[in-house]
Amino acid sequence: MANTLFYRAADLKEACVLLSQYGKKAKILAGGTDLMVAINRKLLLPEILVYIGNCGLDYIRVEGDSLIIGAMTNHASIVRSTLVKEKAPLLLEATKYIGSPSIRNMGTIGGNLVNASPAADAGTALLALGAKLNLVSVSGVRQVKVEEFFTGPGKTVLKPSEILQEVLIPSQNENSKWAWYKLGKRKSDICSVISVAISIEIEGNLCRFARIALGAVAPVPLLAKRAGSLLERQNIDKTLITKAAKAASEETTPIDDVRATAWYRRKVSETLVKRLLSQILE
Ligand SMILES: Cc1cc2nc3c(=O)[nH]c(=O)nc-3n(C[C@H](O)[C@H](O)[C@H](O)COP(=O)(O)OP(=O)(O)OC[C@H]3O[C@@H](n4cnc5c(N)ncnc54)[C@H](O)[C@@H]3O)c2cc1C
Repeated sequence: MANTLFYRAADLKEACVLLSQYGKKAKILAGGTDLMVAINRKLLLPEILVYIGNCGLDYIRVEGDSLIIGAMTNHASIVRSTLVKEKAPLLLEATKYIGSPSIRNMGTIGGNLVNASPAADAGTALLALGAKLNLVSVSGVRQVKVEEFFTGPGKTVLKPSEILQEVLIPSQNENSKWAWYKLGKRKSDICSVISVAISIEIEGNLCRFARIALGAVAPVPLLAKRAGSLLERQNIDKTLITKAAKAASEETTPIDDVRATAWYRRKVSETLVKRLLSQILE
């Protein structure tokens, strides 16, 4: 860190100008719960750090049909928010078990997405919710879907000149149902061995749409598109749930690591998707 230049951007415009000036040499600093760990372990030595905590990106509001969450909003604020509870309870549930209270006080929704861990809990929930992201630079704002954002472990479509400004979550209706499950070696302060987020719209037994997302089973948080499409416009029953769960498991490409084997992850993917869909149907 000895030669790192530290900027505390006064607003989003200044942060964008700094990124356009320094490009790849600069790194955005949000809560620092991922970035500072990498710097302390000497895995990363950025020449420039741009802190965005004073850029007015800490907000949760409803605009039109969307719940909008600023990138600097920390996990603790999301868990406390009555708006998130009402409009996106799936995100609240997924966020509740991120790290420990101190990690949730520092870590932000933006950092969770840009860090692009395959096990990112908020990232997996936002995938199921069909969220979109506003990316801002000196050239303006562009919007991408969360499923197009992640490109590999630690990699996204974000350009060196861009900042993740906010997350837009489409509103749910009275037929929207959801489920979340995080499997870890213990209940809290632990990285997911596997996580599953499901968001579906269902009238009676007729499924209008279904999004099934899985964390820690692929190089990026995974949207199991084939599994979702098996359910859409169909009357859901036990046979279809079994088929969709099998399809979701087949879409995974897990690896063996310190937390679990690929074999275990594939097996548990199927079991959890089946269990959560059955719970929703009940
Ligand atoms: C002990 C511990 C436990 C953890 N447990 C979990 C867990 O259970 N689940 C989980 O999902 N994660 C967990 N994490 C990871 C981490 O806390 C989260 O990913 C957190 O949300 C990261 O946010 P941050 O604000 O701290 O990001 P930072 O560390 O500040 O940044 C992370 C990366 O994102 C970039 N960045 C941040 N914000 C922006 C932005 N707005 N625009 C552009 N680039 C940006 C930074 O340059 C950096 O590359 C854990 C971490 C620790 C240390």
